[in-house]
Amino acid sequence: MRVLLAEDEPHLSAQIKRLLNAEGRVVDTAQNGLEALHLGSTEPYDMIILDIGLPERDGITVLREWREAGVSTPVLILTARDGWSDRVDGLDAGADDYMIKPFHMPELAARVRAILRRQSGQLSAVIEMGDVALDTKTGRVTVKDVPVDLTAQEIAVLTYLSHNRGRLISRTELSEHIYEYDGDRDSNTIAVFITRLRKKLGSDLIKTVRGRGYMIDTD
Ligand code: CA
Repeated sequence: MRVLLAEDEPHLSAQIKRLLNAEGRVVDTAQNGLEALHLGSTEPYDMIILDIGLPERDGITVLREWREAGVSTPVLILTARDGWSDRVDGLDAGADDYMIKPFHMPELAARVRAILRRQSGQLSAVIEMGDVALDTKTGRVTVKDVPVDLTAQEIAVLTYLSHNRGRLISRTELSEHIYEYDGDRDSNTIAVFITRLRKKLGSDLIKTVRGRGYMIDTD
């Protein structure tokens, strides 16, 4: 899952990025409102974390412009402790949730997981697909309750496909959600990840629709 993080405080931005990376998410960062507006309007993010106090264009304005332009990506806003009116404005402008600074990193991580789950209609933190279970909280994957070792990229591929079960995902779409903006996107390597996942998780979990993409069936 790919996240846009718009936060102008470098230390906090780096800390949040590390946290989300550790949970297998790819993160693009924006340091000001204009950059955030551009990335959020042009790249297909699974969710956005948006600081309200951004230079060049404030977060509320950015959020309003996204919503007016039809960008429906879930947005979590970050506000100051005394910024209750920002929270009201943010929610009215189309934010899905908010965090008050300073916050504890595990709480932010949990809210991000909750938003991603809601977005894909997933009710619990563990996604079960036949014998395979993916714990979205820990990134742990098991087959018949036996833990399987997956690389970060393999987890990213499995996570995106499992959050979009029942839908055919093209290689292009998949690569847009598992690599960062300036990442080296080679859609041929996707086929390699799929082959490895099949070897580790069983050959019938991920279906290939030749020339069109991949899919995990809903059960
Ligand atoms: Ca700020």
